[in-house]
Amino acid sequence: MSILNVASTRIRNVLKLPGLRLKADSSKCVSCGSCSRVCSMSLDVKMMVQNSEMDHPECIMCGECVSACGKGVIRRSFAGPDARSL
Ligand code: SF4
Ligand code: SF4
Repeated sequence: MSILNVASTRIRNVLKLPGLRLKADSSKCVSCGSCSRVCSMSLDVKMMVQNSEMDHPECIMCGECVSACGKGVIRRSFAGPDARSL
């Protein structure tokens, strides 16, 4: 299932299609690392937040990082690849 999700995310990004994406407000991040510890794909989510690069090709949009962040830094939003949010 995750392979299909990764493939669809890559296709969506190449075609610049809108879809469910992660957004983050890095100014609220306290670097606790909880998001990285729970990531289903073992991504360095904390680093993604701090670099403001939330569009990772292997992210399967499971939402575990969103739930784990007690500071409300990460959220899911329907948006295009270059949009901040819609
Ligand atoms: S869980 Fe939230 S506060 Fe902690 S490192 Fe991740 S984004 Fe930052
Ligand atoms: S949505 Fe899931 S796969 Fe994507 S970064 Fe968050 S925990 Fe990892």
